[in-house]
Amino acid sequence: SKEDVQAFFKKNAFVLFTVAAVVVGIILGFALRPYKMTYREVKYFSFPGELLMRMLQMLVLPLLVSSLITGMAALDSKASGKMGMRAVVYYMTTTIIAVIIGIIVVLIIHPGKGSKDEFMKQSKIEDISPADAFLDLIRSTMLTHHLRQLALSLQFKTKYGKRIVHVTMTVNDSVFNLTNLTEQITREEVIPIPGTVNGVNALGLVVFSMCFGLIIGNMKEQGQPLREFFDSLNEAIMRLVAIIMWYAPIGILFLISGKIVEMDDITEMGGQLAMYTITVIIGLSIHAFIILPGLYFAITRLNPFIFIMGLVEALITALGTSSSSATLPITFKCLEENNKVDKRITRFVLPVGATINMDGTALYEALAAIFIAQVNNMEMNIGQIITISITATAASIGAAGIPQAGLVTMVIVLTSVGLPTDDITLIIAVDWFLDRLRTTTNVLGDSIGAGIVEFLSRHELQAKDVEMGNAVLEE
Ligand code: ASP
Repeated sequence: SKEDVQAFFKKNAFVLFTVAAVVVGIILGFALRPYKMTYREVKYFSFPGELLMRMLQMLVLPLLVSSLITGMAALDSKASGKMGMRAVVYYMTTTIIAVIIGIIVVLIIHPGKGSKDEFMKQSKIEDISPADAFLDLIRSTMLTHHLRQLALSLQFKTKYGKRIVHVTMTVNDSVFNLTNLTEQITREEVIPIPGTVNGVNALGLVVFSMCFGLIIGNMKEQGQPLREFFDSLNEAIMRLVAIIMWYAPIGILFLISGKIVEMDDITEMGGQLAMYTITVIIGLSIHAFIILPGLYFAITRLNPFIFIMGLVEALITALGTSSSSATLPITFKCLEENNKVDKRITRFVLPVGATINMDGTALYEALAAIFIAQVNNMEMNIGQIITISITATAASIGAAGIPQAGLVTMVIVLTSVGLPTDDITLIIAVDWFLDRLRTTTNVLGDSIGAGIVEFLSRHELQAKDVEMGNAVLEE
């Protein structure tokens, strides 16, 4: 019918625009590089991209809360318990596989060969003061408004672009802030870090919303107004997302070109860092192109690449924003509209996944820790490698879905095996890029998880449909 044709065009037009945005963004970025824009100019230039970040972030909080609450309330505790178990088993399994892949590739490729002194010349560092990051993980499961609790703070001097700046990185209740205390640069040149989420403690919100949803789900008639309220809120937010999706390609274009304009000269990258970057790319590719699709196929017997095609906009948004939280609204749209995944699954699996399931981050943190050991000429024994696996998993759970959060939670991994936390600064120069890749892997992992959990839960979903159908008939 005509509507079908229109819908088909709309869907594909989005994908086409989004892919075009990446291509044009890259070309424009490289075309503008020779003009050597100042930070201020780059900031103005990237403004349309910053707007997209803000639009998406604006929706994350109400979306996460309303979808989790309605998702939990729509299921009885037995069904949600079962689905929850499946989701958790999926999260843990894929995260552990990711960590193992990270460890294997870094041990085989061994990118950390060579002298550290040479490497150190590229990024100069000083003063590091790590505090207790593990406590922060536990602390952040509690919803709180005390955002000033300083859980972790790193201070160092580093090269950012062409200049040396003082940087303080802090994590407050899973909120990641990068403040630049600059020395040589003037105030208006203070580097803006895109996508800092202010005041959202995602893990705490997830725990709260799940409990709240379970309660109102069990409340019978008394819970009805609340169930309807959050359902309606969720619907309203998703309509806002539909509008933002028209703007997304423009935002992505400027996010990508702006980043290319300001990035360091690639030819200046040292050999170890280049090898390291390639190693990370190989590791993430194995996970994203082989393991996750393979797992999807093994369980559902469906073509994983058709499923992935439906996710293109979400994956590109992840690439553009480096934030799985900011991408969440688009991930919802792709799964529900393109891939027709049941809302009862997405509402429940996606917010939790975006917050705790980060395959790319886990792979990255394990790989990076061993790379740092290699650079320091330290051999990791089996015990230490196991420790790295466990702490990388914990660190990926603890990392918020915001840009470069994984870099900060790496302190947990490094301290656990006695590696110098100062050395995080060795890899900071390429993190803006690798962060985008691991975020894309994170979003892919969450999405494939939704597909798998839906497949495994099909009997419960059908039973629930029948039950609801009967209820309607009885009325
Ligand atoms: N930026 C990543 C994400 O949002 C987290 C990380 O830094 O690894 O998924």
